Amino acid sequence: MYDKIIDFIRTLYPEQSSIPLHAPIFCGNEKKYIIDCIDSTFVSSVGTYVDRFEEMICEITGPGFAVATVNGSCALHVTLTLAGVQPDDEVITQPLSFVATANAISYCGAKPIFLDVEREALGLDPVALGNFLKSNARIRDGNCYNSVTGNRIAACVPMHTFGHPCRIDEIAEICNHYHIALVEDSAESLGSLYKGKHTGTFGLFGIYSFNGNKTVTCGGGGVIVTNDEALAKKVKHITTTAKVSHQYEYVHDMTGYNYRLPNLNAALACAQLEQLNTFVENKRELASHYQKFFETLQIPFIKEPEHARSNYWLNAIILADRKTRDEFLKTTNEAGVMTRPVWRLLNKLEMYKDCQTDALKNAKWLEDRIVNIPSSVRM
Ligand SMILES: *Cc1c(COP(=O)(O)O)cnc(C)c1O
Repeated sequence: MYDKIIDFIRTLYPEQSSIPLHAPIFCGNEKKYIIDCIDSTFVSSVGTYVDRFEEMICEITGPGFAVATVNGSCALHVTLTLAGVQPDDEVITQPLSFVATANAISYCGAKPIFLDVEREALGLDPVALGNFLKSNARIRDGNCYNSVTGNRIAACVPMHTFGHPCRIDEIAEICNHYHIALVEDSAESLGSLYKGKHTGTFGLFGIYSFNGNKTVTCGGGGVIVTNDEALAKKVKHITTTAKVSHQYEYVHDMTGYNYRLPNLNAALACAQLEQLNTFVENKRELASHYQKFFETLQIPFIKEPEHARSNYWLNAIILADRKTRDEFLKTTNEAGVMTRPVWRLLNKLEMYKDCQTDALKNAKWLEDRIVNIPSSVRM
């Protein structure tokens, strides 16, 4: 059966002896914009491509304000900081995510609480969130406290896994009710909508990543979106070394960060964003080929959830058990078809192993079974 799958994947990517999991493609204005950027000499932290990139992100995703950053990880760090996360606070997130999600919480001196994900959509389960808060949350002076640890629960960071939207409207409602700031890790879900609204736009902040393996890439990059103008100004300030605007003087009014996206990367990002719709259409078509094929084999394929339009960043299947998964990974990778297991659950990593969790029934089940399969845009 593995041979059948390998053969099928080879028909999807003909003439490629080694098939990567996700490779970028540059077939639009990438070279043109990069050359233009170099000719302008504005290759670094100010330039028209940064402005254009931020405008394009607002047009695509909807909110009024976007601030470019040097990657998605620092975008998460800054948004959590400006959402008010402080040392000894706690932040709810999901254990089934890339390590950057939990790291950003740590950068603030806060601790993650890991709650279970949904088995179908793979994102934070609003029911798990509601249950946890119902038994553990105490509201005092407009803040939410964890009755087990006594610490404040300052924020919640759900993630739209592999580009599949989680039930973010329900999560937003729960967070509102408990006075918890909502920051969406939508690093993987640029181009994914939930109930017609772009992922990343349901809470205080959303962030997207433009790392080399994401749907749209600029080498490395990130962006923060928000509807709050005052917060957007703070984001810009703190990510650009908190320099007070002046023609020539260097005055900084707080400890800021150099998290700026270079104009050179922004040029690449603009060219790639022009192709976002084409890429997403292409990936959705690929996903429908996979879906039909895996149906014939009776292997569960992760489909876009109800009410959602997914970008299908990474396609995923669910194998029978850990042993089958390991055999499949070995056979496919040896045959030159790159496949990957899902991330090790974050609560199992050394630095997060003492964090509070719920039973994590679905996350544990999924960790043993999910495999990502080649998902690049096809030429
Ligand atoms: C890629 C990714 C990030 C981080 O983005 P970088 O640009 O690589 O720093 C954060 N969270 C998730 C879930 C990601 O997949």
